[in-house]
Amino acid sequence: MSPGRQERLEALGLWPVWRLRAAPVAEPEPGSARDPEPALSDSPPAMPPSPAPDLDWDALGAAVKSCTRCPLARTRTQGVPGVGDPNAEWLFIGEAPGADEDRLGEPFVGQAGKLLDAMMAGIGLRRGRNVYIANILKSRPPGNRDPRPEEVEACLPYLERQIDLIRPKLIVVLGRIAAQTLLVSDTPIGKLRGHVHQYRGVPMVVTYHPAYLLRSPADKAKAWEDLVLARQTMADLKHGAAP
Ligand code: URA
Repeated sequence: MSPGRQERLEALGLWPVWRLRAAPVAEPEPGSARDPEPALSDSPPAMPPSPAPDLDWDALGAAVKSCTRCPLARTRTQGVPGVGDPNAEWLFIGEAPGADEDRLGEPFVGQAGKLLDAMMAGIGLRRGRNVYIANILKSRPPGNRDPRPEEVEACLPYLERQIDLIRPKLIVVLGRIAAQTLLVSDTPIGKLRGHVHQYRGVPMVVTYHPAYLLRSPADKAKAWEDLVLARQTMADLKHGAAP
């Protein structure tokens, strides 16, 4: 980062917020696929019908926790529905629970989650306050491997229902895989960021996954630009300007 940019972030009280105080990542994050994948012997059962589009929050949480719509049910500890304000204006969407999330039942609670909290703080947001955080997959893929198309197909109705219940003003999608999945695109994330997309009628901004930013801190400056775009888009939406 240029000294000028760092000074500007410091002047805004933002630059130190980006520094992680905790130890380096111990567990692989989604996408790194370092653990061997346990063998899943049987072929998956026929997928049960899509979850009812009219589930309320309690029913949705219960359905995610007991879901057997894909083979990840056999290897996860628990389903991770999401966390936050059910009336949030902001919805952050990641890829899938990792080891910490699988253990604790809440999205983004590991090292990547600490960075996500810092990123949100940079634009004046706090977990649980006008913010909801969810993932595309509600169950951890073994070894944090990439989600498979059939897993996405099985799980996406839960996210869609969450979006319909929350009706956020703006979605921030975290990382290449989540962005390409929602936008049904194979465009590189570098080309997807910097624009305001739409998903289920909700404006959506793409940025880098915090786990990627932990590995590639040089791209934090671009992520900051994305967050500024998100903050400006939200301000425009509140003032009635269509993005
Ligand atoms: N990475 C994600 O995409 N989601 C989580 O909940 C944690 C790490």
